[in-house]
Amino acid sequence: MTASPLCPMCETGTLTPLTFDDSFICKGKTINVQGLQGMHCTQCGADPILTEQILSNQQKIADAKRAAAGMLTSADIRQIRQTLKLSQKDCSLLLGGGPNAFSKYERGEVLQSDAMDALLYIVHKFPFTLDALRHRHNGDTVTKLVNEE
Ligand SMILES: [Zn+2]
Repeated sequence: MTASPLCPMCETGTLTPLTFDDSFICKGKTINVQGLQGMHCTQCGADPILTEQILSNQQKIADAKRAAAGMLTSADIRQIRQTLKLSQKDCSLLLGGGPNAFSKYERGEVLQSDAMDALLYIVHKFPFTLDALRHRHNGDTVTKLVNEE
């Protein structure tokens, strides 16, 4: 981030970073999100939020919603994938969700479906099920499972 950007409102003050908390209602539950990022102009008092801060805030909010719903967070998903030694692309091939699904889940850009959350839970708790997914992906003509080398 560049140091002390100029305030877009008054165009004379400079912006300093600040963090704030916010709360959202999601499926009837109040979700508190802490440590959201914004800027503050000491000159005119404006509180703009920069694009990169909006992206970071979106990830925090998405993770708070996941946590409130008992779903895996983006960090959980990344950790599970790395434990299984799969690339984001391989994970999408085996588990579905589209070619860029895991990069989006891990950046917090897209919330995984309940079905994907359940699937990740299963392969995490029972890693041998990954062989079945590999078998499904490679088709019945492949008799040797990938893990058998
Ligand atoms: Zn200002």
